Amino acid sequence: MRRYVDLGIHAFPEGADTPKRFELVASKLGFHNIGIVYHSPYWTQFSDPRLISGVEVVAEGVSELRKKIASYRHAVTILSVHGGNEKINRSACGDDRVDVLMHPESGRHSGLNQVTAKLAKKTGVAMGFNLDYFWKTKESEKARLLAFQRKNIALCKKFGVGFIITSDAYSHYDLRAPKELKALARLLFLKPNESDAALSSTPLQIVERRCQM
Ligand SMILES: [Zn+2]
Repeated sequence: MRRYVDLGIHAFPEGADTPKRFELVASKLGFHNIGIVYHSPYWTQFSDPRLISGVEVVAEGVSELRKKIASYRHAVTILSVHGGNEKINRSACGDDRVDVLMHPESGRHSGLNQVTAKLAKKTGVAMGFNLDYFWKTKESEKARLLAFQRKNIALCKKFGVGFIITSDAYSHYDLRAPKELKALARLLFLKPNESDAALSSTPLQIVERRCQM
């Protein structure tokens, strides 16, 4: 049986529910584990060793990003970067202290190109794709973001960059079962084995690699 993991959960005080509540609901939906990954302004340490601890670093510029990566790296298992800005995306892709660059497409452009994809392949940084655009975003905005995600996923596949799928949940109502996420991922042109990997083996490998360090 596959061990599914969602590494994009924003719990209280950033989101509406406690890590425990998310864990209960996620486990009923079929997840093996979840990553509680607060955006850095909300970061707080929680005391449940069964859950994966993380931060999603938000920075205005590259020097702030580097400083924040240095200060959080040893405090968490998963260090993600809040993407969207081209300079931030590029810096994150070139930094092997980073585990995941989340939503690189959330700015005005798709956010990735051949240069950043090659950098990410070299450093082992994975890309993170939120599937909540399908249910949270207005139609016009959704079409644009999904087109960017399709382009970025094609780049990841071409250059062998790892990628994960998350629900980007702020409340337990935002969580989606692996089966549902995989059905949505078909609209990003992911085959069932590719979305399975993005929800299980790839996030698990990221966690295991950090736990061994
Ligand atoms: Zn984010």
